[in-house]
Order: sequence, then structure tokens, then C-alpha cells
Amino acid sequence: MKRLTDLEFDNRFARLGDSFSTSVLPEPIAEPRLVIASESAMALLDLDPAQALGEDFLQIFSGHRLWAAAEPRAMVYSGHQFGSYNPRLGDGRGLLLGEVKNDAGQYWDLHLKGAGQTPWSRMGDGRAVLRSSIREFLASEHLHALGIPTSRALCVTTSSTPVWREKREQAAMLLRLAPSHLRFGHFEYFYYTGRHDELRQLLDHALACHFSDLLDQPQPVAALFRQVLERTAALIGYWQAYGFCHGVMNTDNMSLLGITFDYGPYAFLDDYDPNHICNHSDDSGRYSFRNQVPIAQWNLAALAQALTPLVEVDLLRDTLALFEPLQQAHYLDLMRRRLGFCAAEEGDAALIERLLQLLQQSAQDYNLFFRRLGDQAAEQALQTLREEFVDLAGFDAWSVDYLHRCARDSGDPSQRSVRMHAVNPLYILRNYLAQQAIEGAEQGDFEPVRELHAVLSRPFEAQDGREKYAKRPPEWGKHLEISCSS
Ligand code: AMP
Ligand code: MG
Repeated sequence: MKRLTDLEFDNRFARLGDSFSTSVLPEPIAEPRLVIASESAMALLDLDPAQALGEDFLQIFSGHRLWAAAEPRAMVYSGHQFGSYNPRLGDGRGLLLGEVKNDAGQYWDLHLKGAGQTPWSRMGDGRAVLRSSIREFLASEHLHALGIPTSRALCVTTSSTPVWREKREQAAMLLRLAPSHLRFGHFEYFYYTGRHDELRQLLDHALACHFSDLLDQPQPVAALFRQVLERTAALIGYWQAYGFCHGVMNTDNMSLLGITFDYGPYAFLDDYDPNHICNHSDDSGRYSFRNQVPIAQWNLAALAQALTPLVEVDLLRDTLALFEPLQQAHYLDLMRRRLGFCAAEEGDAALIERLLQLLQQSAQDYNLFFRRLGDQAAEQALQTLREEFVDLAGFDAWSVDYLHRCARDSGDPSQRSVRMHAVNPLYILRNYLAQQAIEGAEQGDFEPVRELHAVLSRPFEAQDGREKYAKRPPEWGKHLEISCSS
């Protein structure tokens, strides 16, 4: 276990030079306070919370102090936002502080979000507000606990520095961890500016640092694209199976590693609604829950376009065609487990689809349904759930088919409940829960955020005294309006 000052830096991305990022120092926020830190994220850096959490920690993660070996850089990238190409995005309010190598030899990017203006800030103030920093922290650590690939969050600090959005708010900083901050948009930037040497250099960097098992492939860049596609397909499988809406699937928010990245107006579905749009600014519903599947493929096509100087178009096109079947296979696999099945059957997709229609029609809470289905033996659970459905005949017909399907399955029926509870969370990060915790934090009470984080870090385990977190949301809590960058 290490102290904060003992971290070992090896800043591979910074060494690529000024074509890829610019050196910028963080602008500190005033009178910093620690809102929350994640012990499990600290463990990724071998940090001992007992030693690491202290004045140094607060000073570093509010931009006042830096390690001598850190080399803060703002990365340049571009990307497609809501379908239109934006030639210049880049880190407008976040800095890559450096890359830390842990005792196991794994690398972690330390990225400080809300660190002040950079050459890519455009009209922005370079700041992040407390509420969006808390939302990113809670979601990162919760998705990780659910088993969904994601960037991680080490801590959030807040301050007396004012930030103006619709009203005066508090400037905050979030320390994000990820093995890499490379986005699809990084590659688009060098493609659209015609800088193919740098494009090649960035791909060589990505291969060497993050996809080294592909270096001996006959066509490493083509293999990299295929792996990015496979990981993205798996990720979208998770999102769709667990009802996670990202909200801003612009190509600059898509990680090359296929992890959930750049949290904004995200939401978990409350009532099942495939047309749900969680981003209040997304008028056309481009990023609705249902559209996440075709949009991920669209984004992969945008990445493929950027790789055309290096890989044959036909090969990229053939790889792209694999997305849908791969995504669907991952999704079905997860849904089968959510329903308590161990083996796969031909008719599973249709059985799942019929269930989703029933859930939608009766406005059933998506994640609680699966949890409750596992609370009792199948027959009893269906009896309990039945009274909440409007189409009773439809539900009864589905129940009969589900019971038959359970009977045919290879899984041990006596373990069904255990199996299901291990994949169906009792606690889910609902927008209204985040909202209540944020309101406390904005008044200087960080206990609600810390408690919510503690609950959501063990989402599959019933926790005594924390029943209120497992409830269906109140009506007001289903209609919170959350928009893009804040
Ligand atoms: P996001 O919506 O957070 O993914 O950000 C999209 C782009 O806008 C990125 O280039 C960000 O760096 C930039 N950006 C977002 N908020 C700010 C801000 N307050 N100041 C400067 N740049 C920002
Ligand atoms: Mg972004």
C-alpha cells in the first residue's frame, strides 16, 4: 500500500508530443473540501485510504498542488455531435495529469475534470459544477459494481469558487481513472485534418499501450478496429440489458476501450420505456434508449471512416457488419441470466421481447421486475407480480411459457433465486436518488452522497436499514430534466 506521494508516473501519452496534447496547469478552486472518495478506486492505484486521505489529497485533487512527475496535458480531439462533425473539441475543462503505473504493472490515466480553461475551452469556463461531478462519481462506481465496463472515479472536491450556469453554482473537480482516455474522436481529428502520419502514430501508440496482444496480427490496425467493435458491442449489450441510457453518444464520448465514458445526462430506466430520452436537449431522440444500438454502430462507422487511410474499406465494412449480431448475442446472454436461465434456447429472444412489451404496457419498473421475479420460486413470484399487469391474459400466457422454459433449463431450480439475485440489482442509481444526495451536498452535507455511494457499491446485496433506496421512484422523480454539459 502506498502513500499519495509514492505514485509512480510514466506519461506515455504526453511523450507523443504537442501534436496530440498541450501542456496546461490546473487552475485551483478556492477553499476546497472533499465531498467523497472511492476506496475501491484508490485500491487501483495501491493507495491506502488511511494514509492517502489527508491535506495532500485535498490539495492535489482541487488543483492546488501536483506531483513533480505529473505532466498535465489537454488532449486534442474532434467528433460527431448529434450527427454533425465538429472539427475542434478537445479537453476544454479536463486535464490528463499523467499515467500511473500500479504495483501490478497496470496503467491508469489520472484525469482531473473541471480543472480550468484550456486552448480547447471555446466559450466555456473550463469548470464542472458540483451536481454533474457527483453524478459522474456515483455512476462510475455504481456501473463498476454492476459489472458494466466503465471509467472509474477516485474523488470529488468542491469549493467556494462560483460557476454560472442558469444560476450560481459551486465549482467542483472530479478525478477520473481509466486505462486510456482515447476516444473515437481522437482518430477523427487526425483523419479530417489530413494528418495521416499522426493518425498512424496514434494508432501505434494505442496498439503498443492498450492492445499489445494484437501487435503480431497480420493487420494490427484492422484487428484493433475489430476489437474495439467487439468491446463496444459487449458494452451496449450491458446498457440495454440493465436499462442504462447514456444520453450523449457523440463520437467524442465513445471510448476506444469500449468502456462507459463521459457521463452527462445519463439515466437508468425507471418504468420500462424503450423510447425513453434521458437528455433534455435531445429533441429528436437521437440518443433514446432504443437507439443506442444503431447509434453505437453509426459511431463505429465514423471510427472506421477515420481508419480508411490505413485499412481497406471492404475489410472495415465486413467488420462493421458483425456489430449487430455480436451486440444481440451479448444482450441475450445477459437477459437469459437475468431471467434465471443457464442454457440458451432458440426461442429466448421472442420470450424476452414479449416480456418487454408487457412491462412497457403496464409501466413496470424495469430493474425491480427482475429482482422480484427472483425473490420467490418462479410460480409464486409470477403470482405476486401478476396483479400489476393490465393485460392479464398476455401476462398469463407469458407466465406459462416462462415456467415451461424454466423447467427445460439446465440450471438447478433450487439455486434459481441465488443465481438471479447475483445479476439483478436491488439498488439502482435512479436520478431522483442522485438528485436528493446532490441537494444535500450543495448545502454542505456530504453524508447523503456517501451513503448513496455505499449502497450502490453493493447493488445486489440487501442492506439492512436501506430499504428506502430499493423503492420505486416517486412520480416527480421520474421526470427530472437533465441536459448536456454542465
Ligand atoms: P461534454 O458534453 O462534457 O462531453 O463536452 C463536450 C465538449 O465541450 C468537450 O470538448 C468539453 O471539453 C467541452 N466543454 C464542456 N463543458 C465545458 C466547460 N464548462 N468549459 C469548457 N469546455 C467545456
Ligand atoms: Mg465529452
